[in-house]
Amino acid sequence: MDDTIYALGTPVPSRAHPGAISVVRLSGPRAAEALIFLTERRAFERGHSARDPALPEPRRMTLRSLYDPKSGEAIDRGLVAWFEAPNSETGETMAELHLHGGRAVVGGALEAIAKLGFCRMAEPGEFTRRAFENGKLDLTRAEAIADLVAAETDQQRRQAMQQMDGALHRLYEDWRTLGLRTLAHLEAAIDFPDEDLPPGIADEVHAGITQLRAEIAAHLDDRRGERLREGLHIAIIGPPNAGKSSLLNLLARRDAAIVSETAGTTRDVIEVHLDLGGWPVVLADTAGLRESGDAIEQEGVRRARARAASADLRLLVLDATSGWQAERDKLVASTERWDGARDIVVVNKIDRASVADADVVPVSALSGDGLPELLGRIEQAAGALMQEGGAPPLTRARHREALVECQASLARALTASEIALAAEDVRLAMRALGRITGTVRIDELLDIIFRDFCIGK
Ligand code: GDP
Repeated sequence: MDDTIYALGTPVPSRAHPGAISVVRLSGPRAAEALIFLTERRAFERGHSARDPALPEPRRMTLRSLYDPKSGEAIDRGLVAWFEAPNSETGETMAELHLHGGRAVVGGALEAIAKLGFCRMAEPGEFTRRAFENGKLDLTRAEAIADLVAAETDQQRRQAMQQMDGALHRLYEDWRTLGLRTLAHLEAAIDFPDEDLPPGIADEVHAGITQLRAEIAAHLDDRRGERLREGLHIAIIGPPNAGKSSLLNLLARRDAAIVSETAGTTRDVIEVHLDLGGWPVVLADTAGLRESGDAIEQEGVRRARARAASADLRLLVLDATSGWQAERDKLVASTERWDGARDIVVVNKIDRASVADADVVPVSALSGDGLPELLGRIEQAAGALMQEGGAPPLTRARHREALVECQASLARALTASEIALAAEDVRLAMRALGRITGTVRIDELLDIIFRDFCIGK
């Protein structure tokens, strides 16, 4: 981390989308020096030092011209600021250039920095990685930054903000503290086998591990966080020709699925991503649930069944013009884990036949009648499913894997035949927990996490 890195932090301006402003950031020991050479004409030739009085006060935006260090030509005029280490986002000396957001301006500025010869383009996520390396944030907070940038709905943003504020970090660190205290008791018992241990130590160790296991188990059971990051899965199911594809198209307000007169044309699972009242939703249209001799269609039906079984919510779509009550009873009987809270019965084609039943949502995919009521029902069901609990939810498969490993080690510790073995199991459990926050660092893991970031973050 001795080198100084730089990157455009805002989107790359194109001819169609120039920005009003583009921000270039630099981080590293020579960031302030770079700022002098870029803002003081001919300074690069004369070779000014970082102690130059031309440097503005740190953390204060100052209007400056930006020059090409070699030719001395003015590239742009804009606001610049610099931050003294360690009081910056990365913990290093940082500089920011707020440029006009045009292609030539941004291109010229990046080239000017390159001409200095002592800065290099940042890798994806490198700024955040440096912040992590310098102890500015733990891994759960770093991941929250990525989530915040990726957030598309209000609820996703709220979750990312909560995690960025350290809610998950605190939860996992509290568990680690509890585990390490238990470990200390066990180690004391190993180190002083002949001493009289204070009475009740064994009980205390047992109680500590049991409590930890119960808390982690409840956390693992809570799928809200992952649902919110990845979207709630809603499957549209129902007999062929009921209007499932039409309904999906209506909800998506675009032609995502093929609407056809022939039964059984929707052979695969088609997904549409929606924002329903702040909840991210992945709506899947499934093949008509009916027995068929056609191999491709059978496969479609199999996938539809699998999707329906794993969905968070299901929309059961029926045809108002053809005995929908009987179809409903048949489907309810054959659908796995049927549950009034998770399943919404939609009776379609009410432009052709009227439906009066308080338990179903009557709609017309053709005219759009009943759509607001249906959206309201989906939002309500999603809200109930995602109801706020006290503790921050688990958000990533990476965390889940580590916690499952932690649980397994703790379970072994409880049944270990010797104190030394129990201590080793608790130690392994704490290592797994430490991997989540980065207290226990594993370089390959860090590479994977930060690679998913965009350049300039
Ligand atoms: P799917 O097999 O369940 O996906 O059904 P489709 O969406 O392909 O629709 C089957 C047929 O019903 C098509 O001819 C649609 O135009 C028609 N349809 C769908 N929704 C409505 C509706 O609300 N009213 C009427 N009258 N026809 C509809």
